Amino acid sequence: MKITRIYSTPIRIPLRRFFYNSQNAGTKREWNGRLSRVTPKRPGPILEYVLVRVETDEGLVGIGEAPADIGFFGQTVEGIQVAIDDYLGPQLVGREPWDIPALMDLIDYRENSSAKSGIDVALHDLVGKARGVSVNALLGGARRNRIPVAIEIPGGSPEDMANECLKYLRMNVRAFKPKIGGIPKDDAERLRAIRAAVGPEVSLRADANRGYSPDEAIELCELAEKYGVGLELLEQPCEAWDLPGMAKVRNAVNVPIEADESCFGPHDAEAVVRAGAADVLNIKIGKAGGLCNAMRIAAIAEEAGLQCVLGTSFGTGVKIAAKLHLAAALPRFTGAVEFTELGLHGPLLKGEMDRALSLPLDPDGCLPVPDGSGLGVELDEAKVAAVML
Ligand SMILES: [Mg+2]
Repeated sequence: MKITRIYSTPIRIPLRRFFYNSQNAGTKREWNGRLSRVTPKRPGPILEYVLVRVETDEGLVGIGEAPADIGFFGQTVEGIQVAIDDYLGPQLVGREPWDIPALMDLIDYRENSSAKSGIDVALHDLVGKARGVSVNALLGGARRNRIPVAIEIPGGSPEDMANECLKYLRMNVRAFKPKIGGIPKDDAERLRAIRAAVGPEVSLRADANRGYSPDEAIELCELAEKYGVGLELLEQPCEAWDLPGMAKVRNAVNVPIEADESCFGPHDAEAVVRAGAADVLNIKIGKAGGLCNAMRIAAIAEEAGLQCVLGTSFGTGVKIAAKLHLAAALPRFTGAVEFTELGLHGPLLKGEMDRALSLPLDPDGCLPVPDGSGLGVELDEAKVAAVML
């Protein structure tokens, strides 16, 4: 079986409101707020993804998905599309699909982690389908088949954020990650209000998205402790490049510190370990450049005695399925796996899996790892056509 074509399909899903805590919906605090994602071409709240298809001479097709977001990934729909269609994909045409790590070596250019991840996931889906095994089997086998779900809560007033958690709690979500990273005193009040609303049993982690100086992060952690918030972890308190700052926070506080923007690929993971900059590594398929690299980061964390979190970069059911297979195969991960997209839009899948990978969750607060070969999900082409760019 040979690969005959690799091509991308960009999609744009309108949202009811901006996910981040202002219309200037960026991720980095500057003198006057956050970097904006709003432009004339993208004036309203949206999420954008690039679907990837790997076609073969035997008619089998693998499907993958790449997240696009200049604010977090620094990678745009247009850039990802060109990277896949004009640069990365053509390198693999004419080759057999079986040896995925070797194929990924052939497109291991600098950057472009998102585009690479879409191809990697599509290759896993394809090879799984061809062999009649699931993607988690290709990753070494399933250790679990139900995956606990966490959802991110956009920034807002303490009351709004608490109410948002309560809304999801009624849909059986048991773990939340509020977005903070503004003024520590105000953020601590947000966390306090959320904890008071959800009770002691619910898992609560917080994401500062690089919003704090090291001293501000320390202040936030101390206030959270004083208020008895019971934070599972604090994610990316400081700038992505400020590993010494992250290490300073980590050494000063009792809350475990997680590296997200500081930890894209395996080499970043090694750098975080060497700098003592985090207790937890955040793994996202789109940051890592695919499932192969995601497994490598998990191995680095395990060998260094660090924990892992599987974070969210949103996605359709293709991405949800890929992350469920990764979560099934990982030796361990901390707490729940983040699937914020469940609250933002449908998975665009066909049949029973569209409902199975949607809210409300089953009473155990988990999603099922899809059965069947490959990713075990099929896109609903009519739903995709409705959001195609
Ligand atoms: Mg994050």
